[in-house]
Amino acid sequence: MNVMRPVRSVGELERAGLVDADQAIALEAVAERYAVALTPSVVRLIDPADPADPIARQFVPDVAELVVTPEERADPIGDHAHSPVEGIVHRYPDRVLLKAVHVCPVYCRFCFRREMVGPQGLGTLDGDALDGAFAYIRDHKEIWEVILTGGDPLILSPRRLEEILRQLADIDHVKIVRFHTRVPVVDPAKIDGALLSALKASGKTIYVALHANHPRELTDEARAACARLVDAGIVLVSQSVLLKGVNDDPDVLAALMKAFVETRVKPYYLHHPDLAPGTSHFRLTITEGQAIVKALRGRISGLCQPTYILDIPGGYGKADIGGSSVRAVGEGCYSVSDYRGGEHVYPPEG
Ligand code: SF4
Repeated sequence: MNVMRPVRSVGELERAGLVDADQAIALEAVAERYAVALTPSVVRLIDPADPADPIARQFVPDVAELVVTPEERADPIGDHAHSPVEGIVHRYPDRVLLKAVHVCPVYCRFCFRREMVGPQGLGTLDGDALDGAFAYIRDHKEIWEVILTGGDPLILSPRRLEEILRQLADIDHVKIVRFHTRVPVVDPAKIDGALLSALKASGKTIYVALHANHPRELTDEARAACARLVDAGIVLVSQSVLLKGVNDDPDVLAALMKAFVETRVKPYYLHHPDLAPGTSHFRLTITEGQAIVKALRGRISGLCQPTYILDIPGGYGKADIGGSSVRAVGEGCYSVSDYRGGEHVYPPEG
């Protein structure tokens, strides 16, 4: 079916042929709890005849999302613990997250902020909140990098994005502006001239961290959208999540990393899935993840190697779990060191 409009409800999933009538009845309870959205580009990528389609698995809701395990938590990476003012997360000294918007063009079923994003989520920062966020950045001269995330910041109109970015232009100590987004892959036509000039409105060095998890997401249209960004002088890096049933296979992961490099996107982070509610069907153990990452070494160019990381639950920051920041202390249980040298048991007790 050639879907031309976004799919945003279980009824629309059924009409698009992505779920059958019985599944639709069961999925209403999931859709009441977590937002649903797929763009036409994503719908076209799904093979409805394949019950294990890795694109469908990322975006089509599953009744398994109603199962919440004791170690899962609403704020798995501890954003709230590091939020000094609305819209800002200040976890590391030299950089902040600016969460200007809490909606996305697609809703990933494994999203680490699934309790905050969506039409019922925290919405878009209003003028007063944005003023407070910029005042915070202005007052903290140690902030070298501002990371626009959310939600997906590139869902904003170019005019709105430009208004936000012009505020950063006058803050001298901010040198880097980074955007975390799925838009070049899920809505590639949105990367047009108006958006490109808006992205550069701060006058700072711009990075875009592109989120994609399967090589099929790097379509010709997505690659062309990335090329427009790179040709406009924007540096692209990748972010992927290691997901059971999507990319937990060295061949698939190698193809994904090679597709990034061919597209001039430098592989950056491979995230161990976070302890978001209702996502245990996506999680593998750290030992399984390490084996997959190890299988990439030697198999593909050094240019294609991502860093395998865990966001330590509770807000303690990222740990390189492909390296020496982790050690097994029991069956499925690990001790992970944070960047300050603190030790944390993973998974934490529920
Ligand atoms: S695009 Fe990012 S913030 Fe939005 S649902 Fe997916 S993982 Fe969550």
